[in-house]
Amino acid sequence: MKLKINNLSKTYGNGVKALDGLNLEIGAGMFGLLGPNGAGKSSLMRTIATLQQPDSGTIEFDGIDILKDQIELRKILGYLPQEFGVYPSMSAEDLLDYFARLKGIASKKERETIVKEVLEVTNLYEVRKKHVNGYSGGMKQRFGIAQLLLNNPKLIIVDEPTAGLDPAERNRFLNVLREIGTNNTVIFSTHIVEDVKELCNEMAILNGGKILSKGTPKEAT
Ligand code: ADP
Ligand code: ADP
Repeated sequence: MKLKINNLSKTYGNGVKALDGLNLEIGAGMFGLLGPNGAGKSSLMRTIATLQQPDSGTIEFDGIDILKDQIELRKILGYLPQEFGVYPSMSAEDLLDYFARLKGIASKKERETIVKEVLEVTNLYEVRKKHVNGYSGGMKQRFGIAQLLLNNPKLIIVDEPTAGLDPAERNRFLNVLREIGTNNTVIFSTHIVEDVKELCNEMAILNGGKILSKGTPKEAT
């Protein structure tokens, strides 16, 4: 599993150059993208998720050109944006069942199995009957992970997931990421150096839309 980002650039309509000829290769496991506010983290995440187009550059995952092949991308990608989702008044369990139906899982039994599994991985099984709207920020973030895991993605992108979480919620969230990072490529961005030190075997520091350094947390920070 390898993500290859080549010469990625993006200048917004207001003249801000958010990505500046960025090159990066990311292998399997937990990868941390560390950078201060305004470094270009969200721009990079949104570009990998193909929510926005770069002005130039390419992104490949396992040989698939993800900027061109949206159908393949949808099969492999899970993306958790920085903003909390807004949900209808339904329990976590019912909502996940609904998302699984949208995904095309017709068998109720099959849906029950996968919904239980993602609730357990994200530590939400105990609160599955509660409305997601009433969840705390950290629980909503974990619900977002549960939702994206329904697709069984190989590439998971999580944008500043710990921003605004209290220490206990942050730990619970990092534990969930640690677990899903054992079988997948997980890229997460943060401005907190401890996040990457605790979690990642590999990391890069982003600033001014460029990679400043890359390596193990020990090497790169
Ligand atoms: P593009 O050149 O890619 O079309 P725009 O500059 O037109 O980008 O902005 C796209 C959207 O992002 C607009 O809705 C705009 O309000 C919003 N936006 C503008 N500046 C910022 C900013 N600094 N951070 C986040 N969003 C912004
Ligand atoms: P980070 O996630 O590291 O805080 P961003 O990618 O959000 O960085 O922002 C990088 C730079 O691009 C910042 O200067 C930001 O204000 C600007 N920016 C981000 N999104 C937009 C947008 N849609 N339109 C215009 N400027 C943007």
